[in-house]
Formats: sequence, structure tokens, C-alpha cells
Amino acid sequence: MQRLHVHITGVVQGVGFRPFVHSLADRFRLLGWVINDTRGVEIEVDGNPEQLDSFLDALTTEAPPLAQIVSVDHEIIDAGTDIHKRFEIRSSEIVKGERVLISPDVAVCHDCLREMYDPDDPRYRYPFLNCTNCGPRFTIIEELPYDRPLTTMRSFGMCEMCSREYKAPSDRRFHAQPTCCPTCGPSLEFLDSDGEKIDGDPIELAIDLLKNGKIVAIKGIGGFHLACDATNPDAVRILRERKHREAKPLAVMVGGIGAARRLAEINEDAERALLSPARPIVILSENPESPVADGSTGGVTGGVGTIGVMLPYAPLHHLLFRPLPIKPPDDPSSIILPEEIGGPSDPGADAFAALVMTSGNISDEPIAADNYEALDRLSGIADGFLMHNRPIHRRADDSVATIRDGVTTIWRWGRGHVPRPVFLPEPLPPVLGVGGELKSTICHIRENKAFVSPHIGDLKTFETYEFLRETIEHQSLILDVQPEAVACDMHPDYHSTRWAQEESGLPVIQVQHHQAHAVALMAEHGQLDKEIIALVMDGTGYGTDGAIWGGEILRSSVIEFERTGHFSYAPLPGGDAAIKEVWRTALGRLCVKGEGLPDEFVPLFRDIPPDRIAMVQTMIDADINCPQVGSLGRLYDAAAFIAGIGMDAQFDGQFPMLLEAACGRDFSPDEKPDSFSANIENLFIEIGNGFLIDGDELIRELARRRLAGAGTQKIAILFHHWVLRILEHAANEARRITELETVGLTGGCFMNRILHESLKPRLIAQGFDVLTHRIMPPNDGCVSLGQAVSVGYMIR
Ligand SMILES: [Zn+2]
Ligand SMILES: [Zn+2]
Repeated sequence: MQRLHVHITGVVQGVGFRPFVHSLADRFRLLGWVINDTRGVEIEVDGNPEQLDSFLDALTTEAPPLAQIVSVDHEIIDAGTDIHKRFEIRSSEIVKGERVLISPDVAVCHDCLREMYDPDDPRYRYPFLNCTNCGPRFTIIEELPYDRPLTTMRSFGMCEMCSREYKAPSDRRFHAQPTCCPTCGPSLEFLDSDGEKIDGDPIELAIDLLKNGKIVAIKGIGGFHLACDATNPDAVRILRERKHREAKPLAVMVGGIGAARRLAEINEDAERALLSPARPIVILSENPESPVADGSTGGVTGGVGTIGVMLPYAPLHHLLFRPLPIKPPDDPSSIILPEEIGGPSDPGADAFAALVMTSGNISDEPIAADNYEALDRLSGIADGFLMHNRPIHRRADDSVATIRDGVTTIWRWGRGHVPRPVFLPEPLPPVLGVGGELKSTICHIRENKAFVSPHIGDLKTFETYEFLRETIEHQSLILDVQPEAVACDMHPDYHSTRWAQEESGLPVIQVQHHQAHAVALMAEHGQLDKEIIALVMDGTGYGTDGAIWGGEILRSSVIEFERTGHFSYAPLPGGDAAIKEVWRTALGRLCVKGEGLPDEFVPLFRDIPPDRIAMVQTMIDADINCPQVGSLGRLYDAAAFIAGIGMDAQFDGQFPMLLEAACGRDFSPDEKPDSFSANIENLFIEIGNGFLIDGDELIRELARRRLAGAGTQKIAILFHHWVLRILEHAANEARRITELETVGLTGGCFMNRILHESLKPRLIAQGFDVLTHRIMPPNDGCVSLGQAVSVGYMIR
């Protein structure tokens, strides 16, 4: 008889790990015990070598869906004569101050769904059921330790049945803190637009209103959604008007994978992402036959060629799509669960082909989470409210993901992922990174883990700035960490910088924006002990020379960087105004200072009133409110204008997205280079021990092609080809200069599918090790991580 000792670290508490170990021990007939300790789970079992081997193997391969195992240490010793007589789950005393990892919120599991659709089950049609494998976590936790009295479930005393399940080690609700049932738990209600309660079945009332083209605010896990029938163009138009969201794509929820296939191209990788326990919004190629509304008012997707799709995750969502159980005709004793329906003909069983499910807010404000707050802030938008009395303590927007190289890649860090840490190779001092300005997040370092907050948003609104403060406070509390220093951006006007300098009361260290991108990427890959070539292709970010950077080829280590190359600067007439009126950006690239716009390019601007052009030219000549910009994001804007995409963008990133979509499916990275791209090195100008890339000539050549008759698609394809060749050449130049072989691709421009999917394999083929983002977004959502890690290394 041998004795196996196992110690497992990671996210292994509050995720059903001990009952799982219990069931494995039963299966392999092992005796012993399992206990939670400060760092994870400890197990001791007695058995013969083969049993112990299989047990050890199953511990990692069959771990519960929410567990995130970081390390498994084990040791086999002789059991002697004092062998165990039974298997027990030993109770552990969780002392305040102990630092266990909290699980993220998790989509309802199949076992719970089966109960919810079983008319004989006590939790039949009960939208708050959950177990150790599923349910709310992060969003309901007020304080540590994770225990019901310190969650928003504390006001619901458990009934006898729930409490019996909660105490039984073999039950799947053993120590499930939020467990409840219709007798003892929260309940639903339906309110009209004035906040008056309406009698009747709240779910049926909501479905009726949605079917009639109305907008319903629905309380979910991390906040309220605004929902409407995605196939009804009028409903979508009204929602956009009321929410002040003119063109930005809206996410939709569908009843199951079969329904998702009608909207978008779904391969195995996409299916896996959609069904993952975090249930993110997955950005997919839109199916041309998709039933969702399109049209001149933006429709659901705003014409970007992709659609954000998610599957139901709260039990309540399932009930909206399928208010009653469906039983297969050949086996009326069983129930068809929503996701088990496949194929294009079955989704007809759902109440809706697709529902728009967009964050419950007005344009850039944070998502509404509290009932009163929702009634107040959403009363002018929603025609009804489907809500409940389980409070949401922490807001968390839906996570957004996409598929890159066959792998789920996160674009917005939120519900379902927070507060999962990024594991660092070594412990660092507690540093708080406060992020950028748009798409902001914050990041706390605690020992060898970096915790990135859910998406906070655009800090320019008062509400979002308040949300930033709340997030900093709450995250410090639940992580039990007191920062020693704050890392922030170099931009003096970012609200996050101001918070750091004026409110934090802590030492502040500024980290350059694109360096923060590079370090975030290195941190994600655990490669913090070496230098890399970072291609940081972004929208805007403050440079050390006061110019707006964002077309950067950096030589980065975790604590410092050198600028090896970058795109040449041009005036950005009007600053932020040019980010909306993108024709200004094109003018900034094409005008010659003191000489105005060369005659050959005048026809490109024929739709802009001449006095507006004259005004911008004056600004350029006199250098009034014309910051210098070298970012690839802005070159994309200029190119999109030249391609004829439009003049005014409605949101940041819209024109680059439309330019990508304009390529259609005709883009091939390996196409024979044209005369311009064959000589792409002519755009490279040597400066010191680095290079400058001539962005003006790039835009001039594109303009000439347009004026010579190239259509929108042709221009879009040419531009992508040229950028691809430029970045490829830039990486090679940087390798020649730095003698480094690892290249990291980061910055918002790498959300562009064509750029990512074309450049990466070409660089790999040329012998580079290529790092790209997987768990953190390439956009500014990753900046707080890079800041915190960089400063952590500086001050340790
Ligand atoms: Zn469950
Ligand atoms: Zn109960």
C-alpha cells in the first residue's frame, strides 16, 4: 500500500474541487482526505500504484470546469500500517487575511439546466438555481472570505432542502454559497416603463413585449442588458436612438449553437468559444443570410462584416428563449437542453431567432447594475424591466472574444474572466496600474499574480470616472492588497493619470503607453526576462517627445525601451476632432506646409465644403491645434477616407473596421507584390540607429491609385498589402539592428483580422518567435497590466 500526497495551486476553491476529489477517490477506491489550505488544495490518499497513477492523472484531466490549475506537486511514500479507513472532506478554517483565489461568474451548468426544465424538480423554471460548478461569484462578493454572509445572498436564509444539500459533501451543492430555491431564494418581477409592478408571469410578460418590438431592460449577472428582437429593424432603430448609439455594432444572444449558425460562420473553434463557461460575446464573420436587421440606420452590426454572438448564460436567459421544456417525441421522459439542439432547422423552437443584448447604459457610461439605478438611468430607453432582488455588488460587462489561429482570444476582459489572474514568473511588490483613458481597466499586483479589472470604459464621463474609483477600492478589498506605488500613463490629461497624481496619495511612476502594451504582451507569455522587438500598432498614445505615437517598433525589456523605428509624423488638425472627421487626417498627410494641398489631390476632397478645407489648411500652416501623429490607426483612418468609406466616423475604430470589411473575401497575403510594395524599403529612412517609415508617401501613393480609378475594395486591399509589407520589413530591419529574434504584435490595430492572420505566419516563416495576445486584449484594455508589471520590476 502506498500513500500519495498532492498539493494543487490555482483557482481550486469555491469551484467544486473537493467534491470532485471525493468522487474520484470513490471511483478509484482510494481512502484518505482532502482539505483546502491557504494556497490551494491538499490531498492524501492510500492505494496501489496503478490506482494512484490513474487518480493523479484524472485530477488534472477531469478537473471541474471552473478550476484553473497552476501547479500540481506530488510525492509517493510508503503508507506504513496506519492506513486510512475512509475518505473524508476535511473542513478547513478560512481565516481572514488568507488569500484564496475567487472564481469568476460561470454560466449555468447542464445539471442545473436539466433541473430547471424538469417539471417534477423543486427548482423547475427557477431562474436563480446554481451549484458548485456554476452561478454568480465575483459579481456578488462583497468581502472576503467567500462565504454566503459576505455575498449579496446573505439576506436569503437557506430553507431545509437547500441547507441539507449545502452540508452534504457528496452533493453537487456542497458549499455552493449562492445556492437557493423558489422557497428561500430571490424572485423575479416585471415592471413597466414607469417602474410599476405588473402582475403575471414576468418571463411571459417580457417575451410578449419583446415580440411586440419593444425594448426590455433585463437584469443579468454583471448588470442590466437592454434587449430587443434583433430581427425587427424598427426595434433595433429605436434602441439605437434612445441609447445614443448610432453605428457601433450591437451584440446579440441566441438560444443555442444551431441558432448561432444562422447568424455567423461557426467552426469547431468558434463553437468551443461560444460554449466556454465564461460565455463571452464572440466576434464572428457574419453570415450573408443572417436574419438580424440591417439597414441605413446601422442595423445590428453597422456593416462591419462581423457579428458579436453569445449564448445564454444566466438561467433567466434560457427561459427567455425557451420558457417551457421541450421533450423529444420518441423519449418523453427526457428533456432537450438548449445547447444540445444542433442544425439549422431546430432553432425554430426558440422564442426568438436572436435578441439584441447590449449593455444597459447610455453610450459610454458604465453598465447599470442596481435596480433603482436601472429604473432611473434606463427609464427613457426601456419599455419594461425584467428584474429581481438578488443584488449585483460588482458590475461586469460581458467579455468579448474572437478566434485567432484557432484559439479563443479575448478582446474585452469582463464577466466570466474576472478576477482570474495573469500568473507572473516571480512575486512583485504590490503595484496598481490605472490604465489608459479609453477602454480602460486597472490592474493590481499581488505576489506573483496580476489581477486585471473588468472593462471600465471611457473615463471622460463622470459616471465612468466614479466607476474607476469604485473599482480600485473594491479590487483592493477583495484581493486584500494595499498598493505601494501607482503606475500610470504619460498623458497629462488622462483621467487615470490625474487620479494617480492627485488622489492616490502614493508614489507615481509613469510608463509610456506603447511600452505598456509591449510589457503586457510579455507578461501574458511569462517572458519578462528578455528583450523583444515590439510592433505596437495602435490608435493614439502619448510619446516621450509629446507627439502622438502609435506606429512603433520598440526594443522593449520589462523596465525600459528604445524606439527602433516608427511611422513619420503628420499634423492631426484639431486633435480629437480629426479622429471623428477623418478627412482631416488625410488632409494632414497630403498637405504640404505653407503650400497647401497639391492640385493632384484636390478632387479627393470634393465633398468637403471649401471653407472647411481652407480652415484646416490654415491650422496646418500656422500649426494651431495640430498635434503631431505617427500612429497606424490614424493612417487607417486616412486610407479609409481615400477609399471612399466616408468622411465622419461615429466611433473610434469604425473606419479601420469598415476598411477591413471592404476587402471582402478577396484578400490573399501571398499575392504577387505590385510595383509599390515590391519596393517597400524605399519608404524606410535611416535615422541614427533606427528608421522612420514615410507615412506621407504611403498615403500619397494610395491617393494617386484612387484618383487613377481604383475602387473602394481595390484601395482597401492595396492598403492592407502595403501595411503588411511595411510591418514585415520593419520587423526584419529591427532584427538586423537589435539582433533579437522575438517579435511581439500588440496594439488595437492587431484586432484587424487580415493584419494578424497575414503577418504572423509570414514572420514565423522568416524565423521569428512571434508573440500575440490571447488572454488580454491587444487594445488599451491591456495597458494597466503592462504598467503594473513594468513598475513592479522597477521597484522590486
Ligand atoms: Zn450548476
Ligand atoms: Zn431553498
